[in-house]
Amino acid sequence: VKETGKNNYELFMESMKRKIIDKLDLESDLRHAIEKEEFVLFYQPQIALATGEIIGVEALIRWEREGVGLVQPMEFIPAAEESSLIIPLGEWVLKTACKQNVKWIKSGIKPVLMAVNLSSKQFQQRNLVEMIERILDETGMDPTLLELEITESTAMQDIDFTIKVLKKLKEKGIRISLDDFGTGYSSLNYLKMLPIDSLKIDKSFVHDLTNSPSEETIAKSVISLAHKLNLLVVAEGVETKAQLELLKNHMCDKVQGYLLSKPVPPNEAEKLLRKAKSE
Ligand code: C2E
Ligand code: CA
Ligand code: CA
Ligand code: CA
Repeated sequence: VKETGKNNYELFMESMKRKIIDKLDLESDLRHAIEKEEFVLFYQPQIALATGEIIGVEALIRWEREGVGLVQPMEFIPAAEESSLIIPLGEWVLKTACKQNVKWIKSGIKPVLMAVNLSSKQFQQRNLVEMIERILDETGMDPTLLELEITESTAMQDIDFTIKVLKKLKEKGIRISLDDFGTGYSSLNYLKMLPIDSLKIDKSFVHDLTNSPSEETIAKSVISLAHKLNLLVVAEGVETKAQLELLKNHMCDKVQGYLLSKPVPPNEAEKLLRKAKSE
């Protein structure tokens, strides 16, 4: 009897099946993880370059997945987004971040901004503004300390809709930051139209900053343009002293990155905040 190995097609189908099952497992685990409260927020400090002080933190989600350990957001946020689980999850993130901010202030820590990421699907939700208002109410969060980060690509999906929603949020005193700036295709005209407070230069640009003079020129002009539009500039992914110095020289307002601190669990973030200055 001739031993037939599996042909390419069969192997392909098996791997497809595996992928589909993995995806379903992930979705069902995610669903249960919300109920089991397996998520945690880590916080990464944002530092004002002029003073060296921590003036904010960005909340970044992690999943303590049973039997797996700490799972990074890139491994589950896309699935959460696809399955719409991002809606309850995003609500949990916002509520937890607001509660944390209030708790820190009550314990005597100097108030800092709390930056929270909004996914595209969350941003398209019709009741987004109401949901945020409710959470502000429930937690007692000062809206002027809340900074919502939406990516450039989310903002550009439907510019009129974006402007409408952002205006409502701004009326509440909430700040808006344009995340991952430079990775999408926002024309500068649009940038002018958006009611935002700051933009975050994507870490891919920061990474190349000290490698080539042209990258430096780009960064320099983005910063000066942003300032002309009355926007603050945050550089994310700052890993080296050289990058920091260069950003300082070009008048970047805030920095965030491993050089200053990784995202850390709440108790460690609290310690950093109590120290106030970060070297
Ligand atoms: P992001 O919003 O662009 O967040 C910045 C990412 O850069 C974070 O990755 C952070 O840990 C990382 N980072 C910070 N400093 C450095 C550095 O110096 N070098 C490098 N190479 N990376 C640095 P993280 O925490 O893995 O999050 C990845 C992405 O997942 C976020 O990108 C955001 O898009 C998404 N995400 C995280 N938490 C949430 C959340 O609560 N809600 C939503 N919708 N998305 C989230
Ligand atoms: Ca972000
Ligand atoms: Ca970013
Ligand atoms: Ca990103």
